[in-house]
Amino acid sequence: MIETFEFQAEISQLMNLIINTFYSTKEIFLRELVSNCSDACDKISFMALTNKDILGEQRELRIDVTPNADNNTLIIKDTGVGMTKADLVSCLGTIARSGAKQFMEMVQEGSDVSLIGQFGVGFYSAYLVAEKVIVVSKHSDDECYKWTSTAGGTYQIEEVDRPDMIRGTEITLQLKEDQLEYLKAERLEELIKKHSMFIGYPIYIHKVVEEEVEEKKEEKKEEEVKEGEEGKVEEASDEEKKEDGKTEKKKVKKNVTEHINAKTAIWTRDPKDVTEDEYKEFYKQINPTDWEGHLAVSHFRVDGAAQFRGILYIPKKAPFDMWETQKKKVGIKLMVKKVFITEECTDIIPEWLGFLKGVVDCDDLPLNISREMLQKNRIVNTIKKNLIKKALKLFKDLEEDKEKYEQFMKNFGKSIKLGIHEDTENREKLAKLLRFSTTKSGDKKTSFDDYITRMAEGQKNMYYITGDNMNAMKESPFLERFQKKNIEVIYFDDAIDEYMVQSLKEVDGKQLKCITKDGIDLETTEDEKKAQEEKKAKYEKLAKAMKETLGDKVENVRVSGDRLVSSPCILVTSEWGWSANMQKIMKHQALRDDSMASVMQGKKTLEINPDNTIIRSLAEKLESDAEAVYVKDITTLLYETAMIQSGFDVEDISNFAKRIYGMVKVGLGAEDEVAPAAEQAVPKLEECDNNEDIDQVD
Ligand code: ADP
Ligand code: MG
Repeated sequence: MIETFEFQAEISQLMNLIINTFYSTKEIFLRELVSNCSDACDKISFMALTNKDILGEQRELRIDVTPNADNNTLIIKDTGVGMTKADLVSCLGTIARSGAKQFMEMVQEGSDVSLIGQFGVGFYSAYLVAEKVIVVSKHSDDECYKWTSTAGGTYQIEEVDRPDMIRGTEITLQLKEDQLEYLKAERLEELIKKHSMFIGYPIYIHKVVEEEVEEKKEEKKEEEVKEGEEGKVEEASDEEKKEDGKTEKKKVKKNVTEHINAKTAIWTRDPKDVTEDEYKEFYKQINPTDWEGHLAVSHFRVDGAAQFRGILYIPKKAPFDMWETQKKKVGIKLMVKKVFITEECTDIIPEWLGFLKGVVDCDDLPLNISREMLQKNRIVNTIKKNLIKKALKLFKDLEEDKEKYEQFMKNFGKSIKLGIHEDTENREKLAKLLRFSTTKSGDKKTSFDDYITRMAEGQKNMYYITGDNMNAMKESPFLERFQKKNIEVIYFDDAIDEYMVQSLKEVDGKQLKCITKDGIDLETTEDEKKAQEEKKAKYEKLAKAMKETLGDKVENVRVSGDRLVSSPCILVTSEWGWSANMQKIMKHQALRDDSMASVMQGKKTLEINPDNTIIRSLAEKLESDAEAVYVKDITTLLYETAMIQSGFDVEDISNFAKRIYGMVKVGLGAEDEVAPAAEQAVPKLEECDNNEDIDQVD
């Protein structure tokens, strides 16, 4: 009985699109179908780990590709898990993942059809080259069924009698008239070598070759039948008989089966014998969607508490979904004795190394290990430790190649920083891999090692400033005294840097200090100290008055020692609290913990610069009571400006704006005839008669 089913609407559309595409490299269909065969073999061999009998009579797992020039068909067959009738409906008639729509949009925008596998609809790529597809499949739990579709919105399923199909799937492609190149064995062989070289099951091509044979003149043709692997020999059409005494030479056609892909798994081979091209191909094989390729590779064998072999790759580019937290797959495929187990073992590699790709094959894990049992497994933990070690070595070695290293840092520097935050044990090693800009690095990047060699005599700590804007950081008043003393300051401009420096307290015994926080004491001479003390005494009164004006906004107002050179004032955060940048980051995090925020925000201290004209004249104004309002107003404005310059957000932006406009009016000598009510609340800057000080702001 033939039953007709309708495709899900999305699939119908997808098939139409694929059938009509002008996309020229249709060859990827073979890669997709072979990869499905391989998946099916993976599935059954995984099941066999826990149930030995499941392989039954069909023990050999293999993939066979057979072109048939007589009727323009190409058959791709596997002895994998097979599909039940229900599977045929659910796998080939509906879409499990929602990728189809996305894929269609992409293709309509002119993008690469070869990405189809990524969207979970690789099967339909068969319609790039075929007008009709027949799938015959036998699953151990069901009878043998045939699925047929010429697209057009429907497909048919019927039970068939195929005693030769013990288990597995056979896909027959009725090739389109203009796609007959896929009947040529050489073309198929080329494609398998290109796309499927490292598939873990043997892939055979069945082909017809011509061979010259010698035979005795008298002998009859019937005897030829015994030759040939499949026992079938046809006489060559261009038969050429050569009289040569008693024998004659003639060409005969012979069916042969050839194993095309690699016979030994690449990771089990000696690294010395593996070529760069083979690594490249293997990378493509395990990451078919990354057409950029890999940046570096490490191929190793570990003989210790656990024995395993592996290949680790650093990709050239970071994938777009690198920071997606819900990702189940990791980049490492776990094999046990060459049987693929899973790529969802998140315990095998730490999250911060999630960008690495590769395989690990361990002989010491029990073959019947379940995916659940892998969690917390001691051997898995040993593998993880070793993978971290291998990765660190790979990174370190890459440093030799400046260009590649730069690319690595650009793409994966964030991951290294995450590693510094999370991996206590390897923190310093990872820190040394970092590259960053500093006040002395120019347009190049530098490392902690380089910074340390450049440290001034007597300099005990390393200094950094954090921010989200490089230009603002470069102009920060906090840098003033460091520049004056010729001390190098690191710019950390990545949001993740804030987390990193919370964990990274020191490198090579040199402490890392944030220059916008309290607790930075640069070396000062006795004379300098004395001068500072004197100034402090002189400006004590102003500092007090300013604190009164600002109230709770600041913890304290104090006269700066040598923190400032040309700016009038600055806001310093407490040594243990968050920096301004961190406060900004936390504010923008949706799930921030408010209880934490109030503790970590800490208190700010306003430091005033006694050598600055503004501060000096402000102190003078304070002496005359008449100008007390003026002092208060300028104090608030100075505070708000310092907030912005130190990287904080001004809380009361509208009053800040009003104060600025008031100031502009003073500058222009302009005055409203009738001031609007709201503006009357604004302190009257106009009352001040001496505006020259303000002009001196530089
Ligand atoms: P994906 O491979 O990403 O799941 P495909 O469109 O390539 O998407 O295949 C869809 C589904 O069809 C597969 O997940 C699998 O369940 C089933 N399938 C396809 N080919 C085979 C096969 N040769 N053997 C068994 N199942 C298959
Ligand atoms: Mg697939």
